[in-house]
Amino acid sequence: MAITPLMPVYPRSAVRPVRGEGCYLFGENGERYLDFASGIAVNALGHGHPHLVEAIQRQAATLMHVSNLYGSPQGERLAQRLVDNSFADTVFFTNSGAEAIECAIKTARRFHHVRGAAHRTEIISFTNAFHGRTLGAISATNQEKLRDGFAPLLPGFAVVEFDDLDAARAAASDRTAGFLVEPIQGEGGVKPASPAFLQGLRDLADEHDALLIFDEVQCGMGRTGALFAYQKYGVTPDVMAIAKAIGGGFPLGACLATESAAAGMTIGTHGSTYGGNPLAMAAGDAVLDVMSAPGFLPHVERMGERLRASLEQFIPNHADLFEGTRGMGLMLGLKMRSDSRAFVAHLRDHHGLLTVAAGENVVRILPPLVVEEAHLAEFMEKLSAGAADYARAAAA
Ligand SMILES: *Cc1c(COP(=O)(O)O)cnc(C)c1O
Repeated sequence: MAITPLMPVYPRSAVRPVRGEGCYLFGENGERYLDFASGIAVNALGHGHPHLVEAIQRQAATLMHVSNLYGSPQGERLAQRLVDNSFADTVFFTNSGAEAIECAIKTARRFHHVRGAAHRTEIISFTNAFHGRTLGAISATNQEKLRDGFAPLLPGFAVVEFDDLDAARAAASDRTAGFLVEPIQGEGGVKPASPAFLQGLRDLADEHDALLIFDEVQCGMGRTGALFAYQKYGVTPDVMAIAKAIGGGFPLGACLATESAAAGMTIGTHGSTYGGNPLAMAAGDAVLDVMSAPGFLPHVERMGERLRASLEQFIPNHADLFEGTRGMGLMLGLKMRSDSRAFVAHLRDHHGLLTVAAGENVVRILPPLVVEEAHLAEFMEKLSAGAADYARAAAA
């Protein structure tokens, strides 16, 4: 048999982490990596954060899982905290980002259904979007590499140019259920939407009685220096999917909605066996404890500014390799003039530095949000050394 026991759907690198500590990962043979990938924006508190570890250990020993057939004091508490800290009135917990997106799409369709407008089924999404790997989520993107071979996909999706308000306006109709957009595209290349575009979508949604759905699976939960990216923009959605950092490494996602948007999500319309179980709620609660402590978000903002300034200062030394920076807070992108995947692999294999490649030849820089100045300095040293020998190798 040639197939590996682990279904071979990932191009896995030679890095094989077995232990983590703060901003570092350690491989099977003790190799040390500076982790500026954070499990793709998941390990917001770094690895082994004592408060998160303790909360999970305690909850695991107390009560790990019960069915959603029973009352959930743990879920009620975390849902209330998310409601108190966002636009939302209600929360559905999931185990992943794609499931949070599925819930958002279902919420939008049910919203119109219960208002007697069952024909309003179309979700308008945007080029280069990434919303996850379920059939619903891949139906909401034009990225061929995600869709290839999985037809027939779901009907009721239209994809128009990202950050092009005229295109969104032209696509909107009396069949539009909602607009689904990442305020800052992650996989697509760390591309922030322009404020005018998001505000324009808000206005369009209002004009058309459609819902505005934000996918903050990657840009939410503190990454931008605000708890949610929409707060930075000052544009409020009706429905929002979050995940990644919310569990700090424990699989957890959530779909947040206003009372009005969630009007169709009544008893029996949706569910999940694991979603919001006590162990997941303990993890989410612990992450939120840390993120809502005074000074946490300002720290993210400050570290983001420092890192960006360092990158801006460094780029002119290698103008042949790099074009510029993009992003917000500690969700930063370094735009390259050539394949960013090759450079990410070079940093990983030769400098013990973990970053993530993204679309448009961008190197994604996603440190744990608890990163300190010393880590930023170490990052810049490794990046500089990496750029120097990468440029030398290219010239040879
Ligand atoms: C990662 C991601 C998802 C999918 O999350 P999964 O947990 O992998 O299902 C959806 N949207 C965005 C913006 C993401 O970055």
